Amino acid sequence: MVGAGLARGLAAVLHAAGRRCQFCAAVLEHAGDFPLCPACRALLAPRVGGYCPDCGICYEDSAAPAYSCLACRLGKPPWSGVAFHGPYSGALRDLIHQYKFNHDHGLGLLLRDLIRQAWDRHRLPRPDCVVPVPMLPARVLDRGFNQSAELACMLGKVIGIAPLLRGLCKIRDTRAQSSLGRAERHRNVAGAFEAAMNLSGRHVLLVDDVMTTGATLTACAKACLAAKARRVDIFFLGRAV
Ligand SMILES: [Zn+2]
Ligand SMILES: [Zn+2]
Repeated sequence: MVGAGLARGLAAVLHAAGRRCQFCAAVLEHAGDFPLCPACRALLAPRVGGYCPDCGICYEDSAAPAYSCLACRLGKPPWSGVAFHGPYSGALRDLIHQYKFNHDHGLGLLLRDLIRQAWDRHRLPRPDCVVPVPMLPARVLDRGFNQSAELACMLGKVIGIAPLLRGLCKIRDTRAQSSLGRAERHRNVAGAFEAAMNLSGRHVLLVDDVMTTGATLTACAKACLAAKARRVDIFFLGRAV
């Protein structure tokens, strides 16, 4: 009974994992709702104030109320609602990196927990569909997976909607955004995405791991609106600057 033995082994591993912090593996004396030690819980605390509700940019004073940044006041983004976890730095950046390179079960559970918290906190209306920011198929083959698609699956489970993993497609290659300045980033991805299915009249929730200038999410939101989506909201874990 190899199958039963494997299942028992997996159950034992999961049970052992339940008594350790899912981020730093410290042994927990009292596991609360989610297995995270108090230090990691503090390091991974969500941003609840001092950010722009239109693009998630985080201000120095995290205790300030949320207010729109100058860029969003000057030109409203193409999406309606935003949900995110916090600044892309420190423990959150480490977590997203680690998960990218090591599909650890505990890290996946932790990410899903942060996603659930972010979804509950921001109270966006329930969408009709959840769509990840796509990668070119060749890039997915190179990397082995698309992180945004993984997060869209996790968010889909939280909301109870199967994600449309091919709702959008990337129709041309682009240069790595990290090598470019702000204006170049927008030019680089403008028109690079296209709806791959009928989004007419639908409320779409776009998912990415990190938002930096918002150029990619802007191009994706415009592609949804061009396909006659009724409303587009965006969800990401980390907001970089
Ligand atoms: Zn810890
Ligand atoms: Zn803003």
